[in-house]
Amino acid sequence: MKRKKEKYQKKKKNIENENHKAKKKYGQNFLNDSNLLDEILNVANIDEETEALEIGPGLGFLTEKLIENSKFLTAFEIDDDLIPFLNKKFEKKENFKLIHQDFMEANLEKFFENKLNIKVVANIPYYITSPIINKLFEYRENIDEIYLMVQKEVAKRIASQPHSKNMSLLTHAVQFYAETEYLFTVPKEKFDPVPKVDSAFLGIKILKDKRYESQISEEKYFKYLKEAFSNKRKSIANNLMKLGFSKDVVGNALEKVGKTRLARTEEFSVQEFIDFIGILES
Ligand code: SAM
Repeated sequence: MKRKKEKYQKKKKNIENENHKAKKKYGQNFLNDSNLLDEILNVANIDEETEALEIGPGLGFLTEKLIENSKFLTAFEIDDDLIPFLNKKFEKKENFKLIHQDFMEANLEKFFENKLNIKVVANIPYYITSPIINKLFEYRENIDEIYLMVQKEVAKRIASQPHSKNMSLLTHAVQFYAETEYLFTVPKEKFDPVPKVDSAFLGIKILKDKRYESQISEEKYFKYLKEAFSNKRKSIANNLMKLGFSKDVVGNALEKVGKTRLARTEEFSVQEFIDFIGILES
């Protein structure tokens, strides 16, 4: 009985994929595992109140679940060949809007107008992970939570904590605006076609209290951050010399925040880094 079901599912999968050859240039690795998709909906806490945004619906597996379980879903898809398929598949769904556009080119002002509490849920094309997150952060007033399938290593970096070898500029850049959580690993075999690397599902919750943004301007924070991480093997004191600070000045500031003079940037939490900048500039 089970084998028959599996055979049927395999056949069904082939039919759905038959007319569409996955395109590498659009990062197409489809995810059609019902249990995994349910798990995604579960951790993202999708319910009938949720207004969701998906980037890259692909063949619509996650899309279908999101439509079934949310109040409204808007999805952006770049691939011309998938549009007729998706329109047909979801033609009867009133709580769904498909936008045929490159998400990176889209003017989102209109989409986000009068919208609050949007949840983004997507298995994104990995080649534009950082640009997508940056673009979403521009609308952080309108977005509550972002759930993304990304490369495992990238998820580790974004959700990393001080002292970990995974700490990087990306960690601080994301954690300045949001709390991050590595939710679960997804082995590469779950995707079709099978990519080269494993993936992970990542949760990003926007800090609505503007915890860090209220203490320092984005401009200043990123100016220091870029230099502090410019060479990961060097100490922060060495890296910050480029901003005109002597080793001594940086060393004294480091001691004031409880670090050694040889400290590296990966030891810092966002709050510690902001305190450190404050002392440097005082
Ligand atoms: N969500 C589907 C799934 O889970 O099976 C597909 C995921 S696949 C990793 C990425 C999807 O994003 C593809 O459908 C691809 O065509 C689409 N895509 C790639 N670049 C895009 C862009 N710039 N804007 C919108 N969609 C894009």
